[in-house]
Amino acid sequence: MKFNLENKVALVTGGSRGIGRSICTELARAGAAVVFSYRSNASAAEQTQKDIERAGGICRAVEGDVADLGAAETLVGELIRDYGRLDILVNNAGVTRDQLLARMKPEDFDAVIQTNLRGTWNLCRAVVRPMMKARAGRIINISSVVAQMGNAGQSNYAASKGGVEALTRALSRELGSRQITVNAIAPGMIETEMTAGMTADQRALLGAQIPLGRLGTVEDVAHAVCFLASNEGSYITGQVLAVNGGLG
Ligand code: NAP
Repeated sequence: MKFNLENKVALVTGGSRGIGRSICTELARAGAAVVFSYRSNASAAEQTQKDIERAGGICRAVEGDVADLGAAETLVGELIRDYGRLDILVNNAGVTRDQLLARMKPEDFDAVIQTNLRGTWNLCRAVVRPMMKARAGRIINISSVVAQMGNAGQSNYAASKGGVEALTRALSRELGSRQITVNAIAPGMIETEMTAGMTADQRALLGAQIPLGRLGTVEDVAHAVCFLASNEGSYITGQVLAVNGGLG
């Protein structure tokens, strides 16, 4: 089934690369007009926008740091001014600064929380009034399997994603009466630039821990986003959907 998102407008944070890029591509393929943000890599953003437009989609890239509430409000305000509506928010932008706790600098903890958790809260806050007014909306937050499983060297990242899942549940209760659904997707190990450098042995070792026997693809995550954003996902809220091949 191809989900139909025609006449919908979507905002995706961190859409220039990796999982976010695929989310933008699949939302546009389903018919949504897509605005995505990125932090600094303008050439990757331009490439993603061009590729989506070349395939017939509607797409715009906007530079902006999700950790800045003012920038989030400006982004959403301009989007609504230009497109007239906002139906779907995907909080995808995320960073890691891995280190064992004894060696982790407080700045590394703060930076990851600022982008992953505060950034998600900022964008939710920026979209909530227009979505409440419209009495409709979909908020989809990208978490990680690490929120549930934990991972050595990722105390900052795991805490940020655990916070994202708790935020998701709290907002689903706050916004349900306005028909706004709020869900999270928790990807497992996904084939991205991060995992591309692994050796065949490392890959086999990882694969052995995943019941489905392979790493996930960026499209595996993007398809789950399209489902939750679609009419078919309209009675699902406050959930964390694991897209991890059974890992954990
Ligand atoms: P990625 O390839 O590193 O891409 C990150 C994207 O976020 C880029 O577009 C980046 O823009 C943007 N970004 C980073 N900080 C930002 C900020 N402060 N404001 C606005 N945009 C910002 O990431 P990924 O691996 O695709 O991961 C995407 C999401 O999935 C993250 O939330 C991550 O935690 C989650 N996840 C990933 C995996 C995995 O295996 N990769 C597994 C589980 C969960 P610039 O390029 O301009 O910096």
